[in-house]
Amino acid sequence: MIEMMNVTKKYNKGITAINNLSIQIKDGEFVYVVGPSGAGKSTFIKMMYREEKATKGRIRVGKYDLMKIKDRQIPYLRRYVGVVFQDFKLLQHKTVYENVAYAMEVIEKSPREIKRRVILIADEPTGNLDPETSMEIMDILERINEQGTTIVMATHNSQIVNEKKHRVIAIENGQIVRDQEQGEYGYED
Ligand code: ADP
Repeated sequence: MIEMMNVTKKYNKGITAINNLSIQIKDGEFVYVVGPSGAGKSTFIKMMYREEKATKGRIRVGKYDLMKIKDRQIPYLRRYVGVVFQDFKLLQHKTVYENVAYAMEVIEKSPREIKRRVILIADEPTGNLDPETSMEIMDILERINEQGTTIVMATHNSQIVNEKKHRVIAIENGQIVRDQEQGEYGYED
């Protein structure tokens, strides 16, 4: 379970990236995070693995209270929450594959109970990939999800969101403006 309660994230210079946001994501869900550029999607996602710390509110990820977690516990959190980064775009296919492959390996090696609780965070995993490769990545992510892993995926890829239906959370100005089961992308390309 990922739970955020009244979470606000302010950066220096007074930018409020996330504004009093609350959400629950249950174990085993597949969630797309959509919204315009600058809406707060990356910040939302980064707070789930403590890459960014919330300014206010409460965040629980599995057994971890991310507002109270000590720095030395963060590596344990990161074993539980796998991350596929968009920033590896330059080495594109290979690196995305490698990341996903690694995630699958971790899942397969772990005991059954852990397996069911692992969370995979993906920020634009299909970023610069061609449609065919993007769909392959999606197939892999869906297979991982079918094994019980929770997937939270930020994306601008409307084709994927509209074809491979899952819960859609839309973020604008740091707040959730839409939360739909089997949702649509809902923005112009
Ligand atoms: P998105 O992923 O939807 O494009 P971000 O979470 O990256 O949105 O950004 C939300 C807002 O926070 C934007 O106004 C962005 O400029 C700002 N922001 C993001 N990261 C930082 C940072 N490290 N320092 C200051 N401002 C930031």
